[in-house]
Amino acid sequence: DVKIGVLALQGDVAEHITAFQQVLDTIPSVVGSVVEVREAAQIPSLDAIAIPGGESTTISRLIEKNRMHEVLTGFQGGIFATCAGMVLMAKSVEDPRICPLGLIDMEVDRNAFGRQRESFEADIPVQGLDAPFHAVFIRAPVVRSVGAEATVLATIDQGIVAVLQGKHMALSFHPELAGDLRLHRLFLTGLGIV
Ligand code: GLN
Repeated sequence: DVKIGVLALQGDVAEHITAFQQVLDTIPSVVGSVVEVREAAQIPSLDAIAIPGGESTTISRLIEKNRMHEVLTGFQGGIFATCAGMVLMAKSVEDPRICPLGLIDMEVDRNAFGRQRESFEADIPVQGLDAPFHAVFIRAPVVRSVGAEATVLATIDQGIVAVLQGKHMALSFHPELAGDLRLHRLFLTGLGIV
């Protein structure tokens, strides 16, 4: 059985649960469940975990408060991180309130698009997908640089917006809001789950 968790401290948790459940439902050969993760003790038995969008300073504070930092950095499964989740996956973040997990070799800027373009949508090419993905950006972060271990999956004029490193995928935008499950599926394919 495949077990996917969605970090349920703050942010758009329900949308990720629905998206992963829908992906699993399309593959009859895979028996799986998607659960909310509220305690560190739940994490080691999961195959994958999603860190949703939301407010990265709040999620970071709650990760520390719930003593999840170490269990997340030592997690053996894959992490699917969107928007605020991407901020948390970085090796370094310019905002001192964030205590990043350092699981992807990248530097991330929060709210990188400025006030005028806080939220926008764009069809962007993503490596590994055969047609552009409709990306929803909401006060999105941008990746300033990646190190040798990370692979860039998508770049727009303002910078890098999708990165893969080993089992982990981080996205500036919100695939869970796009009605398009290709990136959730690509992530699970990378784990050998689907
Ligand atoms: N800008 C937010 C942050 O860094 C993320 C926004 C989002 O997840 N939609 O916390």
